[in-house]
Amino acid sequence: MGIIVQKFGGTSVADATKVKNVAKRIVRTQEEGHQVAVVVSAMGDTTDQLTFLAHEISANPPDRELAMLLSTGEQVSIALLAMAVTELGYQAISLTGTQVGIVTGGFYSEARIQHINDSRILSELDKGKIVILAGFQGVSIDNEITTLGRGASDTTATAVAATLGADRCEIYTDVDGVYTADPRVVPNARKLSRITYDEMFEMAQLGAKVLHSRSVEIAKKFDVPLHVRSSFGEDEGTMVVKDSVMIEEVVISGVTSDKDQAKISLLGLPDTPGIAAQIFQKVADANINIDMIIQNAGQDETADISFTVAEKDLAPTLGIVESLKSNMGFRSISTDKTIAKISAIGIGMQSHVGIAARMFSALGTEGVNIQMISTSEIKISCAIDERHTERAVRAVHDEFELGNVAS
Ligand code: ADP
Ligand code: ASP
Ligand code: MG
Repeated sequence: MGIIVQKFGGTSVADATKVKNVAKRIVRTQEEGHQVAVVVSAMGDTTDQLTFLAHEISANPPDRELAMLLSTGEQVSIALLAMAVTELGYQAISLTGTQVGIVTGGFYSEARIQHINDSRILSELDKGKIVILAGFQGVSIDNEITTLGRGASDTTATAVAATLGADRCEIYTDVDGVYTADPRVVPNARKLSRITYDEMFEMAQLGAKVLHSRSVEIAKKFDVPLHVRSSFGEDEGTMVVKDSVMIEEVVISGVTSDKDQAKISLLGLPDTPGIAAQIFQKVADANINIDMIIQNAGQDETADISFTVAEKDLAPTLGIVESLKSNMGFRSISTDKTIAKISAIGIGMQSHVGIAARMFSALGTEGVNIQMISTSEIKISCAIDERHTERAVRAVHDEFELGNVAS
């Protein structure tokens, strides 16, 4: 009998009625002859509320206590779902990350899964139980509770599916699949029946929060068939597949945006070899990811460098560059939190020319100024003023004719 992993997000378990509906769905899957392991997120916006509460107590809550607090959200939903399944006359057991042994690396937040102990899950499945697992949480080797980053219940699900050698991993959410753009921003966005792991990974990294990017990375690495679909309907969703399975190669699969970006500019740097390396090495040492970079010749043998980081990394990055300022002798530092990154993603980009030019001209026609650009084989990203984000996404989406025809 094959194992199926099903993951339900916050909206899918937002209240008692929804929890009962999820219970019916998972029971049906067991009735169809599968062993079922379920991963659940916290109910509704519980994680946001708990974060808010922590910040009412402390401007800078200790990471350990924050992980302790946030992990309670998932503990509530697994217990309720197990009760709902029991109520339907089936056997279920809820398990926390610690009880399973979802072992993570040393950090309290944004922790990475290193190993999942499959013995408890398998023994409960073999007893005929539906196993209900808390998403988003793990345990360090020192027995400390950790969390895996916002939206990471998806990652728990694919990691569990990979560990158990599940037949597939189904991600149930509040949209019925992966769209060419966020359907809340682009009303005529089109549902994709298939998307490759690589494109989905880029889309998730670049702002499409329908899947956590690490979940896609794991699914690709361990060949887990991934199906994104709706909790509230029966429609076929989106299959995330290998490149080789794509029958027709599309040029652009999707357009994303990400407002959680900040720009830092270092003005009046000495224009000598090795300066950029020193700065970026220090930032990398602090585990901060730098994304787009531009360098301009400044005045009098100097140069200006601007780069972007995730907004959450702005303060620590500033600390680092401030500490380098006098030593390196640059004139000033400026920051800008009002930027957004918009991106077009598609594997077909590799074999088509002029894609970047079309994206830039769509933005130009819309009157949106491009501040920075970065490209890879399968994506083009532009930093723009965040006030224009939604308009820019729609313009690029239209340019590549990604929408439904009748809308
Ligand atoms: P869950 O709580 O189930 O994990 P999320 O809120 O994390 O759900 O992700 C689902 C949301 O992702 C949708 O409501 C949608 O607004 C958003 N989203 C962003 N980009 C896309 C996209 N390209 N396709 C589908 N949904 C998207
Ligand atoms: N509850 C966590 C969050 O809101 C994890 C998740 O939903 O995937 O980020
Ligand atoms: Mg999510």
